[in-house]
Amino acid sequence: MKLVFLGPPGAGKGTQAKLLADAAKLAHISTGDMLREAVASGSSLGSKVKSIMDAGELVSDNLIVDLIKDRTSHADCAGGYILDGFPRTVAQAEALQQMLKQAGQELDKVVFFSVSEEALKARLENRRTVEGRSDDNVQTQLERLKVYSEKTAPLIDWYRSCGALVSLDATGSIEEVQQELRKIVDT
Ligand code: AMP
Repeated sequence: MKLVFLGPPGAGKGTQAKLLADAAKLAHISTGDMLREAVASGSSLGSKVKSIMDAGELVSDNLIVDLIKDRTSHADCAGGYILDGFPRTVAQAEALQQMLKQAGQELDKVVFFSVSEEALKARLENRRTVEGRSDDNVQTQLERLKVYSEKTAPLIDWYRSCGALVSLDATGSIEEVQQELRKIVDT
């Protein structure tokens, strides 16, 4: 099974992806985690993307698409995967579609995490104060929300028109949302 998790920063995609990936034996591919690891390890990729991530901007489509092409070719992806944080632009979605087509594959579902603005703000504040991620200061979070509306939100209609989009109400507790998610992937 191949899934894409789509939604604003703070919608809970990463938390839900981890739980579902463990339960359904899927690889969890988070481009944000991969890039943060590159920054932490001090690799050349890390030094290239650090300032972009700290500013809340998107790294280049080519770089991310190459990262995904490589990651999805690993053995742990043979049984399926969850893409969390990719694609984030129409160009990335087109590249993904092309990549899958060439391999004679397709996405099973694109799950859109729908969440109210108040819940989103509360979650982002919690993440800032409790988790302390380096790209989670107020300024960066606001920029990431803006970038999401401008560049990523158009993917909702893009995938809806492909018929692959399923909406998930992501406002409940972690357990409630996971339960709803399981229903979606089981049907
Ligand atoms: P995330 O943890 O998914 O919110 O990603 C953290 C940061 O990594 C983003 O703010 C971007 O700077 C970068 N990033 C992650 N995924 C992508 C992507 N698909 N395209 C471009 N930049 C990305």
